Amino acid sequence: MRSSGKFKLNSKVSNSTFNKFVVTYDAVSRDVKCHCLLFESRGILCRHSLRVLSFDKRFDDLVFWSHNICEFASKSEELTGILHRAFDKVMVEMEEYQERSKGKSLLTHEEATLSNVNDL
Ligand SMILES: [Zn+2]
Repeated sequence: MRSSGKFKLNSKVSNSTFNKFVVTYDAVSRDVKCHCLLFESRGILCRHSLRVLSFDKRFDDLVFWSHNICEFASKSEELTGILHRAFDKVMVEMEEYQERSKGKSLLTHEEATLSNVNDL
């Protein structure tokens, strides 16, 4: 099964701001640049860049995982129905979770910002 390639994103450059430093990330070339220039000056990835990279790795992971599930579910209408109901349930659960943790966590806010950028 080599169809997972079509799930790769064509062009995705995102800008995220962490602690006033803008991190530019190209999801295709995997280039990450941060305005703090820590990588350029010392050759080490700063924590701003790492934040963006770990977000992207999680996203890749989810895409891969959900692709397998969708492939399985699309074999029959019954399975598709089960998945639809599960998605609805999961969406409600995630929204409830986000509602509960709103304002409490800076990380959640940053992630929300980042995903908005990726949607553009
Ligand atoms: Zn940085």
